[in-house]
Amino acid sequence: MTATLTAPIDVDRRAGAAVEFRSVVKDFSGHRALDGVSLSLRPGELLAVLGPSGCGKTTALRGLAGLESVTSGSITIDGDDVVGVPTHRRDVGMVFQAYSLFPHLTVLQNVEFGLRMRRVGRTERTSRARSMLELVGLGDLGERYAHQLSGGQQQRVALARALVTRPRVLLLDEPLSALDAKVRVHLRDEIRRIQRELAITTMFVTHDQEEALAVADRVAVMRAGSIEQIGTPEELYREPSSAFVAEFVGTSNRVRAEVVDGRVRLPGCREIEAVGSPADGAVWAWVRPEDVVFTDDPHAIAGTVESVSFRGAVSRTTVRTDPGTVLTLDHRPEVGRPIGTEVLVSFVPTAVAVVPV
Ligand code: ATP
Repeated sequence: MTATLTAPIDVDRRAGAAVEFRSVVKDFSGHRALDGVSLSLRPGELLAVLGPSGCGKTTALRGLAGLESVTSGSITIDGDDVVGVPTHRRDVGMVFQAYSLFPHLTVLQNVEFGLRMRRVGRTERTSRARSMLELVGLGDLGERYAHQLSGGQQQRVALARALVTRPRVLLLDEPLSALDAKVRVHLRDEIRRIQRELAITTMFVTHDQEEALAVADRVAVMRAGSIEQIGTPEELYREPSSAFVAEFVGTSNRVRAEVVDGRVRLPGCREIEAVGSPADGAVWAWVRPEDVVFTDDPHAIAGTVESVSFRGAVSRTTVRTDPGTVLTLDHRPEVGRPIGTEVLVSFVPTAVAVVPV
């Protein structure tokens, strides 16, 4: 806490640095946590890094922050190689999962902290901290202490504290996971609003696919230390490049199908487009729940309604089609069928992702 931070602050600089990971490897005594990660963040974009526990998300973020050294490869911010540069000289702001406010400082003093370390004068410090608190919606709470705030308010203060120095890059490591569902969604939207307003390049680490799809310009899906796919939320949802992505991002039905002349034959369905150019043969196809519908077509797939759950604008029904196969359908509540009903269902996607069986 007593260290003086020396990164220069250019008050007029527009936020939005480009970030580049090139073939980054990180070994922890025999365990490879990052296995040649290459990815880029465009100026001003919010990239969510998504993946299951232990896939290396946090290690990648900490590598960019300088909190973890990397074994090989390069990480650049606006073309400057930052490998070996200490954290306080990388000009990054960070918010972590655990509330991390200084308990003996007021909210205002917490937000001012980074400016004090940079020897910014009192008047400017206070005015910048106050406007940052306004930005995160806490203009009235500057004199409180952390223990007098809710979890959501503490994370807002942490965000203000991270942003007040106008860092080149904002790093968010599961910043919402300790919050309850409603606060979580609200603060997620707020983070997005503020990130857009400041046009600050942001890396947002999460294991929650819904959160990643909702908040990001693009999502990088990680698996076992590598990037599996990078794309917009729509691309990942509609055109998953692998079985792993199809199953990790959103709910999917896995259906046995066949590729003939590059087109997919699903049971009880006309031929449809395949995502990519798969070879002919037996495949697994992933069909989203909204692309499975009830029908009267006698050639469709017969089954029995097994469960129905009401979710507001849509309902979700599961249909057991034969022992071991259960299809999930999302549909308007009014077309739902009661549990136990014999039904016919068919697939209506425009294209499906497939992998060879
Ligand atoms: P989670 O969502 O659970 O936080 P993650 O995707 O962020 O997971 P990391 O924390 O990046 O995963 O860890 C990646 C791998 O590296 C894991 O197998 C983890 O056990 C290992 N690891 C992380 N830090 C260390 C360390 N300091 N020493 C040894 N192994 C580590």
